[in-house]
Amino acid sequence: MMRKVLAVVLVVVLAAGGWLAWQWQQRPSLEAYAHLYLPPADEQDGLRVTWLGVSTLLIEDGETAIMTDGFFSRPGLLRVALTRIAPDPERIRRNLARAGVDELAAVIVLHSHYDHAMDAPVVAEQTGAVLVGSESTANVGRGLGLDESRIRVVEDGDTLRFGDFEIRFAASRHVPHGQAMGVIDQPLAPPVRASNYLEGGSWSVRVGHPQTNMLVQGSAGFVPDALADWSVDVVWLGIGLLSQQSPEYMAQYWREMVTTTGAQRVIPFHWDDFFRDLEQPLIPFPTMVDDFDATMQALMGYAENDGVELRLVDAWQPVEPLAE
Ligand SMILES: [Zn+2]
Repeated sequence: MMRKVLAVVLVVVLAAGGWLAWQWQQRPSLEAYAHLYLPPADEQDGLRVTWLGVSTLLIEDGETAIMTDGFFSRPGLLRVALTRIAPDPERIRRNLARAGVDELAAVIVLHSHYDHAMDAPVVAEQTGAVLVGSESTANVGRGLGLDESRIRVVEDGDTLRFGDFEIRFAASRHVPHGQAMGVIDQPLAPPVRASNYLEGGSWSVRVGHPQTNMLVQGSAGFVPDALADWSVDVVWLGIGLLSQQSPEYMAQYWREMVTTTGAQRVIPFHWDDFFRDLEQPLIPFPTMVDDFDATMQALMGYAENDGVELRLVDAWQPVEPLAE
């Protein structure tokens, strides 16, 4: 009798494992969106933006270069789930070199979850940049021994200047998922669990520049009317886990980020499976985790309604954000 029960349990466990493994392979194809991709930038001295996965952007104008987040270590799912994690300085160095970065004026951290903040102090150290963000982000920097003179804590409404870039900060919100919320209130020295990287507040960041004004929104959250007096040309729209929100939430997120700011172009990002390293092509998460197709369908509908252009970018490929 006992052996029969065990045999049944074993079959059930194997079947469940097989089902999960199969589900994990089911990912949206990017082919359907091939017509949305921006062409490679051809100018060397205009404003160029290079997407480097998640919400890491290299933004440069030939004089000054800044970066959001700077997340390159990308530890695998099992390591994140089961072990303590830390920045990988060699991997960071290799990826900065691949992106052609040697000097940065600032690394601007959009919030302090590990896929945004973990590597940022190392990027700052390697490029001479100042680390910019919340008090929680500052504590990620302190935990890695980044000098206080290289840390800049910002508040809601602050404006910073780097060369021709004018960077504005508005307090925003994270996409609701309830994980690792709260603040990092003392220096955080890795290796630590991924869940120790508490959100610490999320920013809407306006990157103003004589050529193009952009909103960079890393997480799909919003504070109603917070961006009412912001005007931008392009929105880099974080869509991670947006597919799990209600249609009403998605529509309001679009209104708060795009309709309110008068943007003419929207470039969704933070859709890639960041448990995969950057040596491989970036692909969406399994549909069971986050349904990229559902999000894109919704966004294409809003875009058509508003007469706004929805575009995508290839990682590693500098683009002019307003190029045709
Ligand atoms: Zn987050």
